[in-house]
Amino acid sequence: MAEEKESWKWQLTHRITTADELSKLINLTPEEKADIAENLGFFRMAITPYYASLMDKDDPLCPIRMQMIPSAAERVRGEFDLDDPLGEIKYNPAPNVVRRYPDRALLLVTMQCSAYCRHCTRRRVVGSTDCTITKEELRQALAYIERTPEIRDVLISGGDPFILETGALEEIIAAVRAIKHVEIIRIGTRVPVMLPMRIDRELTDMIRKYHPVWVNTHFNHPKELTPEAIRACEELADAGIPVGNQTVLLKGINDDAEILKKLFLGLVKARVRPYYLFQCDLSVGISHFRTPVEKGIEIMHSLTSSISGYAVPKYAIDLPAGGGKVTLGYNYVVSKEEKELVLENYLGKLYRYPAR
Ligand SMILES: *Cc1c(COP(=O)(O)O)cnc(C)c1O
Repeated sequence: MAEEKESWKWQLTHRITTADELSKLINLTPEEKADIAENLGFFRMAITPYYASLMDKDDPLCPIRMQMIPSAAERVRGEFDLDDPLGEIKYNPAPNVVRRYPDRALLLVTMQCSAYCRHCTRRRVVGSTDCTITKEELRQALAYIERTPEIRDVLISGGDPFILETGALEEIIAAVRAIKHVEIIRIGTRVPVMLPMRIDRELTDMIRKYHPVWVNTHFNHPKELTPEAIRACEELADAGIPVGNQTVLLKGINDDAEILKKLFLGLVKARVRPYYLFQCDLSVGISHFRTPVEKGIEIMHSLTSSISGYAVPKYAIDLPAGGGKVTLGYNYVVSKEEKELVLENYLGKLYRYPAR
């Protein structure tokens, strides 16, 4: 039994999808029970037994619970919510391809994930049952990348590409790698966090044949840095795969400098480089997770230089309507004159510095 639970396929087939199943593991509040029942038709719930085991049994504000259990707030349409917050429908030159920058393209290969985050930015399409890219869609997507020599960097994402069988994923990676002008392949996945047993030798041995391949994962809270998750990240790193992380700033979950400091330092120890800290997107039904932008900047200010630059990601907003990402930070330039700048250091002390 113990061994069975360590198999990723067992974890997927035994995902928790109802309030009844979940209440065998944790003490659900009456509100949580009602919210699950009401939201299931809206955006699906599915939680791997592994990830559910990290939940606090009694605390509904547990950061793992809040990322996985539907809440009534998801039925609120916030003032600024957008159905397609990132303009992905408009910037869609071929099936399953999103291209917003000249030299990079996103290739969405499945709409399935190992577990479904309540804060999902693609919640309008993710989790639908007909989900994996068809051979014909893949052929058209690859033909587009092939005839677009500016694209040097292909991000394979979804959904979660690591949900695919290794052989099916290899077909996609090999086909992308066969395009001469593609220099870098990146894979976006939350599997190390929610299904770490999926990261096995079979997978890493396959990936390393197609280097350079980078993997970007998605840890949001230090509670997620379990021995299993750390092992998954280290196994990727051991296969020569640089691993990055993107965190979404989420109200009540991680909008706190001390929590994020612990997370980012823990990631660096696992050889994962914190890459982006994202402002929560404007997808419909997640406005309750959004934090003021000022708060994000304040958190960045308290992290910068108080810990190593390796542990500090860039704070980014993914602009609506396909505007791309913009990074924000505290302004350390106090004044700027023709010959001299006044700069503030991380402790608030002022320094003069020649402007030229
Ligand atoms: C985020 C993103 C990229 C990659 O941007 P980087 O800053 O290079 O990580 C590329 N294409 C799209 C559509 C994106 O959303």
